[in-house]
Amino acid sequence: MTKYDLIIVGGGPAGAMAGYYAAREGLKSLILERSQKPGQTTVSGCGLSPKLWRDFDFMDEIFELPHRIADMATVHFVDKNNKERSSISFTPSDQASYDAAKKFLTVNVYRGLLDPWLMNYATSEGAILKASTCVMDLLKDDKGKVSGVITDSGETFEAPLVLGCEGVISVVAQKSGLRKRWLPSEACWMVNYDFASTKEIIDEMIGGNALHYWYAGSFPTAYTFYNVDGFHFGLGSFFDHVKNQSWNPQSLLKEFYKVEGVRRQIKICQGKAREYQAHILPMISDPGKTYADNILLLGDAAGFLCPFEAEGVYYAMLSGKHAIETAVEAQQAGDYSETTLKVYENKWRNSPIGEEFILGPAFSSIVRGLFFNPVTTGEFVDAVNDLLYGLANVAESHYYNLNNLENVMERHFPFLSRVLSEYAEPFMDGFTQKPPIPITQIIKTYLDQQIKKRARQEKKRNE
Ligand SMILES: Cc1cc2nc3c(=O)[nH]c(=O)nc-3n(C[C@H](O)[C@H](O)[C@H](O)COP(=O)(O)OP(=O)(O)OC[C@H]3O[C@@H](n4cnc5c(N)ncnc54)[C@H](O)[C@@H]3O)c2cc1C
Repeated sequence: MTKYDLIIVGGGPAGAMAGYYAAREGLKSLILERSQKPGQTTVSGCGLSPKLWRDFDFMDEIFELPHRIADMATVHFVDKNNKERSSISFTPSDQASYDAAKKFLTVNVYRGLLDPWLMNYATSEGAILKASTCVMDLLKDDKGKVSGVITDSGETFEAPLVLGCEGVISVVAQKSGLRKRWLPSEACWMVNYDFASTKEIIDEMIGGNALHYWYAGSFPTAYTFYNVDGFHFGLGSFFDHVKNQSWNPQSLLKEFYKVEGVRRQIKICQGKAREYQAHILPMISDPGKTYADNILLLGDAAGFLCPFEAEGVYYAMLSGKHAIETAVEAQQAGDYSETTLKVYENKWRNSPIGEEFILGPAFSSIVRGLFFNPVTTGEFVDAVNDLLYGLANVAESHYYNLNNLENVMERHFPFLSRVLSEYAEPFMDGFTQKPPIPITQIIKTYLDQQIKKRARQEKKRNE
């Protein structure tokens, strides 16, 4: 039987990059992928962030694939009658710290194209891909030590190191005892509709304004992402929120579909529904332990998604780099125990992966409490519109508007005060260098004073 230096379970971005770097380091690696070809059944968005261009030197070659460059994003605020009330757009800034980030927000490529393209880097360097092979269990030696994997056909493959790169439902994580399952509060049920259009129509109607985020009381957070010749819209709900039937993502998606602006986008792009997709997304405040004797977890299997945006491709690919550095060190030491593999955690914690999780608990609380909660998102949308209207309307003089802003915003003070203490304060703790003036505290104190003042006035009026 061929013995490998490592076995990579799953041929998504994490697995492909692990295979690529392993081959470059001269490690003999086998990638086992359950689909007939990488990306065949992957459900995902398509936005690749500029960080990939910063940290992977081959990324410019992706422009040979059909893609859409998103150089504008638009955030829409929708009221309870599914009518859009306000929107804000933004574009890359020349203040960005590197070139790619100055040019685009994301490059959008379908996963059916991206994953085989990434895998080609691994196989051309010498990694071996075995498709249509689903890993079902870990192989153990007579001392109970992990020594490889067992597939759905009962075949066994041996290696001293197994990398779990098989996404959110990770056999390697479960069988190694690193994680039984995600808690309902740690995983989102995502649903998407993918629409076909043509490049010409999307170029004309949407162009580079290819990322749309939607907030509303009724769904509460959703997106439309445009690709070269198609687009998809979707949203998600935490599993513990789904207990509330109206927070079920299928019901929320129906609400989202009713939004005037969404229907208009589908109409002008002559979108034809092509596919309904569902997937699970880990959204956690910290990945916890990602190594065990003879085991490393990468990408979604480890929970390496940005806890705010759920961006995952970059973090999955980067974890491939860190895992192979660790594998090389373990091979040199001749020791694959968790004592040696522990260095993997230092590597990812001291990289952009770990940086995303410094504020993990604060991001998780804001995502779960504010943006994935129809009640609070509804209040947020109303407050944003009143603020924009209060500042920018031309019904009165601007002098009048400025003086009247407090009255316009008054009904939102209790909500804003609560948001500041529950969601904004934890962010302040996350800064290594605290700002000299805790602005949120000042605003909150002001709002609390106003709330008390108004309550006193109200009481007096009723006396
Ligand atoms: C709806 C949605 C939208 C998203 N949008 C974006 C976005 O726009 N940008 C972004 O960066 N990220 C996005 N993400 C996150 C991104 O898709 C993931 O973070 C990323 O795919 C993780 O890569 P991975 O290699 O760890 O896992 P995956 O991409 O899930 O790859 C795992 C691979 O393992 C295979 N596999 C699974 N089980 C087994 C097994 N037992 N044996 C063998 N093979 C197996 C699968 O077939 C798959 O090919 C989105 C996710 C979702 C669900």
